[in-house]
Amino acid sequence: MKITLLYGGQSAEHDISIISAHNIAQSIMYDVYTVQPIYITRAGEWIKGPLIDTSLPNSDLMRLVPAEEMTWGDDAKASTGQAMRPGELDREDNIVFPVLHGPNGEDGTIQGFLEVMGVPYVGAGVTASAIGMDKILSKRIFDQIGLPQVPYHAFDHRLWREDQEEIIQRIEGSLLYPLFVKPANMGSSVGISQVESSEALIQAIENALQYDHRIVVEQGISAVECEVAILGNEEAHISYVGKLIKDVAFYDYEEKYINNRIEMEIPAILDPAVASKIQEYALRAYRAIDGCGLSRVDFFVTSSQDIYINEINTMPGFTGLSMYPVLWEKTGLTQRNLVEELLQLALKKYEQKK
Ligand code: ADP
Ligand code: MG
Ligand code: MG
Repeated sequence: MKITLLYGGQSAEHDISIISAHNIAQSIMYDVYTVQPIYITRAGEWIKGPLIDTSLPNSDLMRLVPAEEMTWGDDAKASTGQAMRPGELDREDNIVFPVLHGPNGEDGTIQGFLEVMGVPYVGAGVTASAIGMDKILSKRIFDQIGLPQVPYHAFDHRLWREDQEEIIQRIEGSLLYPLFVKPANMGSSVGISQVESSEALIQAIENALQYDHRIVVEQGISAVECEVAILGNEEAHISYVGKLIKDVAFYDYEEKYINNRIEMEIPAILDPAVASKIQEYALRAYRAIDGCGLSRVDFFVTSSQDIYINEINTMPGFTGLSMYPVLWEKTGLTQRNLVEELLQLALKKYEQKK
């Protein structure tokens, strides 16, 4: 059996994807599988590398990454891969692991392509991926199933161009500063700003519109962030709740990934009733979006123990230090067993559909 790792990609989370894929490649059981690395450039071209059949400590996946694609590190060599068309993806004895975050990876597009190709793949299908990635659609669904969320206001580019003042009025009439402005379809804090005034709000909306034509503005909340990991298809398992220990107002891309400033408390020291509520909400959110394989569900918990769901990530960061695999490690599942379970879940779903 072959595992195809798809990584890199056109989203702003390109670099994290490479680190995640590298970590997953280290967790594969090479007595059972070989690994086919396929690196997707920032321009969307597919580059196929040589098969990997042993767990190598060096950066084999990195060798497919041309130097000009890297924004950090100095591991990049000249690419040793070969250009391929997506349609040339192997359809026999192949499980695809799309280790892609953000738009064109985690949002249902690549999942739709893999469905059409008829290959088993790890993680959420089209629906869950698309909804999970879309902060507006997921909020609508969480509202509908009665999960608590911070107050928000959503609108699109056209409405904004038509009547900016009306939108600002509405936001200021229903939400309290500080506000968080977010593009609907993004991740890793890309395009997100925290603002304290009307002027900053307008600027932040214009900035977010660079990333997506749909925007959500949320009331800022003073809270700790708790996250929980889900693994499974119809029958899903839930990890301990983890807490982010932070020393900055909010994690932007740089704090999260470049400075590696996040510390985690696992299991989070929480009232047990709060922890089990979080786990219950997470599973309900997962079912509501038709989750499959894996997800990390993120929450805010205030000092008065109020819980708000923030978002669900259907292809969470998977570096050795990322919350998702670390939550499972602390819950008793090694990264090796976790990756194996994800592959088995992919096969099960595929067999069921046939
Ligand atoms: P992403 O999908 O990019 O991770 P999030 O919605 O999780 O986007 O926002 C990124 C970070 O911004 C969160 O982890 C949190 O630190 C902060 N944040 C987002 N929304 C709020 C909010 N309403 N109140 C307080 N902090 C927030
Ligand atoms: Mg996200
Ligand atoms: Mg987040």
